[in-house]
Amino acid sequence: MASTDRCETTAEGPFATPLGDFGHAWVSFNESEPNWPDIQLLMVSSGLPQEGILAAVAIGLDQRKYHQYFAGLAGRQTMTMMPYLARPKSRGAIYLRSKRPLDRQVIDPKYLSHPDDIAAFLKGIGLAMNISRTSPFVKNLGTRFHARPLDDCKDRALGSREYWVCYIQHMASTFYHFAGSCKMGPATDPKSVVDEELKVRGVYGVRVIDASVMPTVVSANLMASTIMIAEKAADKIKEKLANQARSADYVLYNWLDSQSVDDLFEENLAELQVEVSQFVQEYPTENYSR
Ligand SMILES: Cc1cc2nc3c(=O)[nH]c(=O)nc-3n(C[C@H](O)[C@H](O)[C@H](O)COP(=O)(O)OP(=O)(O)OC[C@H]3O[C@@H](n4cnc5c(N)ncnc54)[C@H](O)[C@@H]3O)c2cc1C
Repeated sequence: MASTDRCETTAEGPFATPLGDFGHAWVSFNESEPNWPDIQLLMVSSGLPQEGILAAVAIGLDQRKYHQYFAGLAGRQTMTMMPYLARPKSRGAIYLRSKRPLDRQVIDPKYLSHPDDIAAFLKGIGLAMNISRTSPFVKNLGTRFHARPLDDCKDRALGSREYWVCYIQHMASTFYHFAGSCKMGPATDPKSVVDEELKVRGVYGVRVIDASVMPTVVSANLMASTIMIAEKAADKIKEKLANQARSADYVLYNWLDSQSVDDLFEENLAELQVEVSQFVQEYPTENYSR
């Protein structure tokens, strides 16, 4: 209550941020894996009616559904609880559209193609509904559920399992956490594309270092993990280059050390050239750019 009052009187505090403050809860419904959440429950101190049609478009919500469902809430104070799948089982696919390399590929995310994803969403919605009925929300904030049925689902009893399945199919959207199109894995896995050093198998000199190498999507927003992958890969590459440079220095140093000063002058220039060219063959420059 203090926060809402503060927002109304001074336009400050957690409820006063333009696009809402975010709170996240990670929840596992599986007792045998309590530390691997099924749902990321996002709580936002504003609702799509405040954020406007652009926010709805940004998350891929159909404009007709947006206007129908949120009609009447414009200008009202709202807040949002959104369950997100933290370990989705549906798997998308990327296809070549044609043999022409400049044609855009076909990306089919196949959202909700695995029935367990709908089941997890239903549990997430149940969790959000339960939280919304607790006294901090009902008594302190005075919130109530927006009980307007979605037009596309109004043939089903509001709040029933069938209603929510229909709602999910119409209103679920992306969180833009695309990953795993180029996964890292052992050579024995025919679907893995890159090895443990993120080198593309069968292609010389190419690494992939981004969210696409994740074998499974992490149970959180992806940015931090993607940066971690990039940092780790950069460290590995630098370490390898430093080792190569050290061993190259060592070989060259020993060879120079074994020569007398006179030998290094012009009469032995031809020999020096031979030695250097052998050295270069042994340590080809392409090794340094991998
Ligand atoms: C709208 C939106 C909101 C998000 N919000 C969050 C958030 O709040 N928190 C969070 O953790 N994550 C968030 N994410 C997810 C996060 O941004 C991504 O998971 C992360 O950026 C993935 O990093 P990446 O390096 O794999 O790909 P990208 O960051 O997409 O980088 C790919 C790069 O490759 C470049 N590129 C593409 N094609 C070519 C080409 N042919 N030649 C050369 N360069 C090319 C692109 O220009 C781009 O710079 C959000 C994503 C979106 C889209």
